[in-house]
Amino acid sequence: MNINLDLITSIIKKSIPKYAITDVNNVMFKKIKMKRDTFEKISNTEKEIVQKTMETNPNLLQALFDKTETAISSQLGLNTYTPLHSMHAYTGDVKTQMIKNLEKIYSTSQRALYTLLELSVKKSKKPEIVKIEKELLEKFGVKTCFSDNIEIANLTKDIIRQIVEKGRKPPKEIKVSSFWTEGGIALSFKDKKTTTEAIFLSHNINPSFFNDGYASTQQPGHVIVHEFAHIEDWRKNGMDKWLNQTATTLVNKERILSARELQIISKDVGEYAGGDVNSGLEVFPEIYTNLFFDGSYSNQIMDLYTRKLNGIIFQK
Ligand SMILES: [Zn+2]
Repeated sequence: MNINLDLITSIIKKSIPKYAITDVNNVMFKKIKMKRDTFEKISNTEKEIVQKTMETNPNLLQALFDKTETAISSQLGLNTYTPLHSMHAYTGDVKTQMIKNLEKIYSTSQRALYTLLELSVKKSKKPEIVKIEKELLEKFGVKTCFSDNIEIANLTKDIIRQIVEKGRKPPKEIKVSSFWTEGGIALSFKDKKTTTEAIFLSHNINPSFFNDGYASTQQPGHVIVHEFAHIEDWRKNGMDKWLNQTATTLVNKERILSARELQIISKDVGEYAGGDVNSGLEVFPEIYTNLFFDGSYSNQIMDLYTRKLNGIIFQK
């Protein structure tokens, strides 16, 4: 089958709000215009085109990821990079305003990814899955869609129960892609009134894929809790800490970890967390996930987690 990547990209791009970009300062301070609820602009026929094409080509989702990222950066990339470089020179209200505007820009790329992933999810007709989805919505207010994946449906149900038992608020959406093969992604973006908190999982999240010492646990629910931990981090610490690798080093200096710290993290937490050179972005969720499953760490790691990353600790 011949894949028209451009056609599909143009469908997805409908969900990316357009900015009135004139120059860096206008973008940063004045002219950010967000359009709401753009997902609805994609017609059912267009949704079907994308889904059918994904179904016949498992690599398409990755290709679309890349293309969407390029579309976003060509629209925003240069305009965000320059002011970030000089961010450290700003203080007070100006800096606060800059961070606020950057959150809007970040929110845009999150929204584009949301649309893309949403298109990769298929509503299940299997009674046992429909039953779990209904139960999770009624009992915990979590919108789920498991794309016929009964194993992840049961696992998610169990994790949401544990999240609530620990006194934490579950995310608003957890969805399973039928086409995407590896990993998970957590998204968080704000509309005028609501915050979307969504987790998308690939159809195979079995942690036996991890090498020994790569992730902080080998629990079957590791990926779900890890993605949820990103949402927890953003809820508690805001978005200015994780805008992007370039931004983080400038916006949030206290989160940069030293080579020595990363070495200890690699050994005691896992290689995935330890490889996170700039931002502390992946260190938080990896530590959180092990603590979630009742793991423990040395005082040194806990001190770094609570002080430097403003981490979350569970009540025993
Ligand atoms: Zn992560």
